[in-house]
Amino acid sequence: MSFAIDSAKLSRSGVDFIDEDRLHTLIRRHADAAEVREIIAKSMCKEPLSVEETATLLAADDPALVEEIFAAARQLKRDVYGNRIVIFAPLYVGNDCTNDCAYCAFRRSNREAVRRTLDENELRQQVLALEQRGHKRLILVFGEHPRYSPQYMAECVRQVYATKADHGEIRRVNLNAAPLDHEGYATVKAAGIGTYQIFQETYHHETYARLHPASTRKGNYLWRLDGVARAMEAKCDDVGIGALFGLYDWRFELLALVTHALHLQKHYNVGPHTISFPRIRPAQGVHLDEKYLVADPEFKRLVATLRLAVPYTGLILTAREPPAVRREILALGVSQIDAGSRIELGGYTEAGDSQSMEREQFELGDIRTLDQVTRELLVDGYIPSFCTACYRLGRTGEQFMEYAIPGFIQNLCTPNALSTLMEYLIDYASPETRKIGEAVIRCEVEKLPDGERKRQLLDRLHRIAQSDERDLYF
Ligand code: SF4
Repeated sequence: MSFAIDSAKLSRSGVDFIDEDRLHTLIRRHADAAEVREIIAKSMCKEPLSVEETATLLAADDPALVEEIFAAARQLKRDVYGNRIVIFAPLYVGNDCTNDCAYCAFRRSNREAVRRTLDENELRQQVLALEQRGHKRLILVFGEHPRYSPQYMAECVRQVYATKADHGEIRRVNLNAAPLDHEGYATVKAAGIGTYQIFQETYHHETYARLHPASTRKGNYLWRLDGVARAMEAKCDDVGIGALFGLYDWRFELLALVTHALHLQKHYNVGPHTISFPRIRPAQGVHLDEKYLVADPEFKRLVATLRLAVPYTGLILTAREPPAVRREILALGVSQIDAGSRIELGGYTEAGDSQSMEREQFELGDIRTLDQVTRELLVDGYIPSFCTACYRLGRTGEQFMEYAIPGFIQNLCTPNALSTLMEYLIDYASPETRKIGEAVIRCEVEKLPDGERKRQLLDRLHRIAQSDERDLYF
């Protein structure tokens, strides 16, 4: 018996906008160099690309042209996001799930999975552990289960915001959870969430049906596809979309992600706040067809092409990827990463140096500490940022775009990133990381134009270093 949905509960744009024939045709197109260079030039003007233009970039097979795509992605990343990398951490709250997704260790039919839902005190202990490491931004992750109601998730969000110790506090809580109805989104929005993230996993209908039993809630392709549109209508205006790469042809999924972003732009005048592109990872009891696994060279193309296609959408690279891959891919357009991540339930206080697969949804590729990742970012010339200013000043959704598009964000983001970095260095960093970080801050402040903003920033950095003042943002 398939899980039916009440079509009245869909969003006003609730239709299946994924035209497979069109995407398959686009994947087979050829590209000439002049056409590719024209499209790169459009991206460099920070104009979002159409699905056709994105397909043309994917069709480029001349190595020199591919290098031009990489170079353009690196430059566009710097033009829009500067050298900031926003840092967050995932926090798994509960892994009960009524779905049976073939690629997931938390699927209901996996009897080996250790099922757990953090109670109030355990949640508090995880948040304190994350705060004591220096985190300021979290994404809470839930299976799909009646016990994880919108009210329950909202209560968890409130508890996270209320958990503070010394200078430790979480200033932005995002959610990665099941699609809700309008009322459900309004409930979690009222608790003060930032981004609501829903991955379609795969946009290919046949593959989706094969991997998600029709008898499960997640088996309903349209209910999930329409998930973030309903969130936007319920005023969750920062939404995140994504696909699990390795389930079907990566070029199809990429074109479908761009189609999804343009669908939201058309109907809500703003695209997704973030796009994620996790590659499938080993998971307990999961045996998947390796036909569509994405190799590293294609993964580079994937990220660089996304960067050029959606200039103003944040791109999230997670700790699924091993450190060396993350280090290389970051420059191609990534704006956000998680760091110091543990995804076992209770993992921030209980997990040792090794991973326990029976307690994880999948195996992580990077379990370095936040301090190790922060130090590498600093050495590589990035500004690790824990900034949450836009969200807390209501610069979200369309409002965010009003700031992002004219490039003002540079005047706000870099100073704010440097303030949050100074907090991290003073309160949490190892001596080695602090030494490198303070040198980076001096160098970055030097680069800023003289004027009132620079004077204010210098004043704030001094107050953070010399007093208990914290959380100073523009
Ligand atoms: S992917 Fe998510 S919805 Fe599917 S089984 Fe795993 S936890 Fe449940």
